[in-house]
Formats: sequence, structure tokens, C-alpha cells
Amino acid sequence: MLQQPPSEPLSQDVSPTLNPSGKTAPLQEVFSSIQGEALYVGKRQVFVRFAHCHLKCAYCDTPMTSATGQCHVEDPPGSGLEHLYPNPMRPQTLLEIIGSLLKTAKHHSVSFTGGEPLLYHGFLKELLPQVQKLAPTYLETSGTQPEFLQTVLPWLDFIAMDIKLPSATKEAPQFEQHARFYQMSLNNPNTQCFIKLVFNTQTTLAELDAVKAIVTDRNTPIILQPETSLIDRSVSIQPKHLFDIENHLAGHFNDVRIIPQTHKMLNVL
Ligand code: SF4
Repeated sequence: MLQQPPSEPLSQDVSPTLNPSGKTAPLQEVFSSIQGEALYVGKRQVFVRFAHCHLKCAYCDTPMTSATGQCHVEDPPGSGLEHLYPNPMRPQTLLEIIGSLLKTAKHHSVSFTGGEPLLYHGFLKELLPQVQKLAPTYLETSGTQPEFLQTVLPWLDFIAMDIKLPSATKEAPQFEQHARFYQMSLNNPNTQCFIKLVFNTQTTLAELDAVKAIVTDRNTPIILQPETSLIDRSVSIQPKHLFDIENHLAGHFNDVRIIPQTHKMLNVL
């Protein structure tokens, strides 16, 4: 069990994206659960969810434009019991929370997710070397900020990198940033990088050709994630389109998988 959170007044006004290299960070929640997406789906992880993101993907299920003054920590896992910690949080406080949750079960790794965790690369640079002494580190990222990745790459064991398809995000393409980010991830041989593509009925083969140009190592795993409805959590992609998309990439890459979001089926955090 966690000790009682500190009793200092909770911050009401948190604007941490203005100070991305700072040594504190605003967090939404910290909890232990099952990875619901991509290559390590089904693995037990401790999740650290950061607030804020610089993008606005149309399918986003964690649209956090502002951080609240509190970080929610569920302990024991699955109990629904929440402890509230003041934001922004210091690395040492988060390290103690992670350490406590890791003791509750066998975990594959600690997932840093969001929002966009790399907005807080200064905070992560201080934290990750300490976390790596406890468990492998796993970054879930939009894959668009190579200059921030460079700061923390030596302490990352896994990178779940998105390549944002405009048909799904309804935003401008980020392919150039993705290419630089991907090439940088290859610089650390101890880091496994894999790609996650959220796609929908509007996704085109030309977008997938752009992915082929970005991901130069054909052994990099490619995970196709059908877009999930924000209204009823359904997936509305027809089998023919599903197979066409898969087939277009499977002829090029050695490990292509279609994996929908599963944590929403399990009704877990
Ligand atoms: S990058 Fe992730 S957190 Fe940011 S808007 Fe897109 S889906 Fe949401």
C-alpha cells in the first residue's frame, strides 16, 4: 500500500507544457493494469499518464488540454481506491509511487503514456535511470519530437511509436518528423521500437506507402490498430478494407499485425 500523499495545498493552475525541460511534470494518473494495445498487448504494466499533448488527433480518447491540480493513483490495483497527489509532481515522488505499485504484482515494464510524455523530457531524464533499476521502461509516443527523444533515448527499453495517418487524425501529415524520430530510435541498439498505426475506412494505400518510406528496417513490427468509436467503442471497418490494408503492408514488412484496443473490452484502466 502507498503511504498517505503529502498534505501540502493542491496546485490549481498548472501550465507545465510551457517548461518542457523542467524537473516537475503534471500527471493525470498512475496505476497498474494490462496493456491494451500493440505489440505487448496483455502484458501487465505500471502506467504513468502525463497531461497535455501538442496534437489533436480526431480519434483521441485522452484529450487533455489542461492538467488538474491532482494526480490520481489507484492502489491496490483494480480496487477503485484513489489517492490524490498534488501536481506538478517531482521525480522522487513518482519513483516512490512506481516502486510501490511494482511490488503488487509481476510487471513487464513501466509505461509512460499520455498525452505526450516527451513534452517532459527534462523530468524523464531524471526519472528514467532510476526506474530502469526497478523495471524496463516503455514509452508510448506520437513519434513527432525527435529532439526530445534524443534526451531520454539511452534509458528507454521499448518505444511504441505512432505514425499519424491524416485520414485518422484529420490533422496535417507529420511524416518528416516521424522519419527523423524513427531513425533516431535506431541509434540505441538496446531499445526495441515498433510502430502503431491507427487507421479507419478513409485510410489510403498512399498513406501506407509513406509508412514504408519512413520505416527503413523491414523487421520493425507494424501494428495496425482499427479506429475505435469514441461513442460506443465499436470498430466499424469492413473485413475487405481490413485485409487490403494488412496485405499492402505485409508484403513489405516481416511482422504486421492487426490488433484492436482490448483494454476497453476488459473494462480496465
Ligand atoms: S498524440 Fe495521442 S494523446 Fe495526443 S492527441 Fe493524438 S491520440 Fe491524443
